[in-house]
Amino acid sequence: MRIVLLGPPGSGKGTQAAMLKGRLGVPHISTGDLLRQAVADGTELGKKAKAAMDAGELVSDDLMLGLIEERLGADDVATGFILDGYPRNRAQAKSLDELLERIGQPVDKALELSVDEEEIVERLAKRARDEGRSDDTEEVIRNRLAVYREQTAPISDHYDRKGLLTRVDGIGSIEEINQRLVAALD
Ligand code: AMP
Repeated sequence: MRIVLLGPPGSGKGTQAAMLKGRLGVPHISTGDLLRQAVADGTELGKKAKAAMDAGELVSDDLMLGLIEERLGADDVATGFILDGYPRNRAQAKSLDELLERIGQPVDKALELSVDEEEIVERLAKRARDEGRSDDTEEVIRNRLAVYREQTAPISDHYDRKGLLTRVDGIGSIEEINQRLVAALD
């Protein structure tokens, strides 16, 4: 099963992907996690990505394509994947389609978690207190939401046109939302 998980920052994609991963037996691929690891490891990629991440901007499409191409080439992807945080704009959606077509592994389903902006700001402020992520300050949160609205939200259409999109209400308990996602996959 090959899934793209969509939704604004703080919509619970990471939490839900981790739960679905266990159920479906496929890897959870979070580009945000991969980038944070690269920054922590001080790799070339990490050095190039850090400024954009700290500002809540998107890392360049070229860097992201290299990263995702490498990750999707790994053996554990043979069973499928849950992509979380990629694609993030139209160009990435197109690159991903081409890449997956090339490796004969097209997306089966795009699931979008819908959460309104007020709830998102609250959740991200809480995460900032709990986890201390450097990109969860109020100013950067606002920018990340603007980037989402302008660049990422439109790609739901990309999957909708292909008949692959299901929107799922992202408000409720973690378990409730998980059940909605599982139902959408049946
Ligand atoms: P996330 O954990 O998915 O919210 O990602 C954290 C940050 O990593 C984002 O605000 C971006 O700066 C960067 N990032 C993650 N995924 C992508 C992507 N697909 N394209 C560009 N930048 C990304």
